[in-house]
Amino acid sequence: MNLCNLGEVRTLLEKHGIAPRKSYGQNFLVNSAIPEEIADTSAYAPFLFPENESDNAHVLEIGPGIGALTRELAARYPAVTAVEIDDGLIPVLAETLADLENVRVIHSDFLKTDTGTLIEELSGGVPVHICANLPYYVTTPILQKLLDTFLPDGTSPLRRITLLVQSEFADRVCATAEDKDYSATSVLTALHGRARRMFSVSAGNFYPVPKVSSAVLSIEPYPNGLWDLWPDAPRGEDFPPYFQKLTKVIDASFLQRRKALPNALSPLFSKADTENALTKMGIRTDVRGEKLSPEDFCRLTALLTTK
Ligand code: SAM
Repeated sequence: MNLCNLGEVRTLLEKHGIAPRKSYGQNFLVNSAIPEEIADTSAYAPFLFPENESDNAHVLEIGPGIGALTRELAARYPAVTAVEIDDGLIPVLAETLADLENVRVIHSDFLKTDTGTLIEELSGGVPVHICANLPYYVTTPILQKLLDTFLPDGTSPLRRITLLVQSEFADRVCATAEDKDYSATSVLTALHGRARRMFSVSAGNFYPVPKVSSAVLSIEPYPNGLWDLWPDAPRGEDFPPYFQKLTKVIDASFLQRRKALPNALSPLFSKADTENALTKMGIRTDVRGEKLSPEDFCRLTALLTTK
């Protein structure tokens, strides 16, 4: 069966008495070149970790749908676990993946799964990759959940995240301080690793056809954690509280992004303290948070929390 042939997909869904569900963001890939390229990117396109790890990695797919991308992942990885929310798709997956011994399907809402525990369990000492054609309606909470899952200290088994997302979302995640799309999501992602926009996927490659265009985003956590970005970050037991404060500073800076930073951060620090810290960094005290690089946020938080 060709899971990317539109006629065959329709027949399969009809046979199971179901149709694509908008409420679950179901837009299935119907051009086989796309799941192939996404699986290749996930398995074979490292850019921070030098070695190619897919030979022994376990890949976690979020939202397998009818299994088109799942099958491509199963051809490249020794083990695939796929989490699907829709009970109507579970019997479909049982049929389309029946011949694959290295795939396990979990019927669950990914947003309600304990991702940290799941990733530890899948790992058992091997690297874990995440790969998904994400439903647009939950892209932000899913990325947030993935970033929250691991402490950015380089010890997580999670080594690569490859996501097909709305094009604008990919731009927002990859944006730097000079870009109009720069946001708290851009900085929080940059604290964990490097994000890259890999390639575009036009709306015509999906069934049903969405109103927006998409892009594949790849994120690789830094091999040595935040210290690869900012070597002066506190170490040991000082790291977790420092990182927690850092994320609060970033959130507050972008919550009121038009305000000068001393005002935006006034719920956390006195204006005088923020001004002093900015002066020590050689930055104007009326700067807005949206002008600071991820490294600037790291240094500013260190100056504000260690006196
Ligand atoms: N992977 C398939 C493909 O590429 O053709 C389907 C992708 S479709 C855009 C998104 C998939 O995610 C659907 O199968 C949908 O049911 C599933 N999904 C939506 N919300 C989910 C959630 N919270 N947890 C797990 N799966 C979810």
